Amino acid sequence: MQKIRQCTNCNKPSMMPVSRKMQIYNSVLNYECPECHTKLELVPMASIGIQFMVGLLAIGVWGAILFSGSMMPGTITFAIFGIAVLTLLAMTITNILKHRRNPVCADLEAPLVQEVEASAHIAKRPILWMEKFGFLAGLIMPILLIAVVLGISAAIGYINFTYFN
Ligand SMILES: [Zn+2]
Repeated sequence: MQKIRQCTNCNKPSMMPVSRKMQIYNSVLNYECPECHTKLELVPMASIGIQFMVGLLAIGVWGAILFSGSMMPGTITFAIFGIAVLTLLAMTITNILKHRRNPVCADLEAPLVQEVEASAHIAKRPILWMEKFGFLAGLIMPILLIAVVLGISAAIGYINFTYFN
């Protein structure tokens, strides 16, 4: 369901969705205020959650490798690691703040814009489906996916071991 949001510039409940584009891992909703022509790019909350969790897992694995050895990582490695952590936090907070600053005022009865312009995206359907959910669901999804993949490989290993040995 597409929403009407409050404009940060003129504070009117007038920000309308004008288009929705696919990026590599998520879609972006473009809003525009017809009163003052302020524009806004909004990443759906579910995708913010997914990006945050995937980033966190990647940084966690990297950190585990970095700090598990007996040697302390060098200053430059440590700095790059710190920048990666800060970038992830900044990106997530910026994206969430946009939702906070432009609260939903009303649901649109009918979609104003065509759902997605670039329809050639290979994973359009699953991405748009996931983005119907909220931030928490987004956080959980990468973990669920890993659990499913591990579960399937465990099951394949079990079947192999039981019936083919
Ligand atoms: Zn405005």
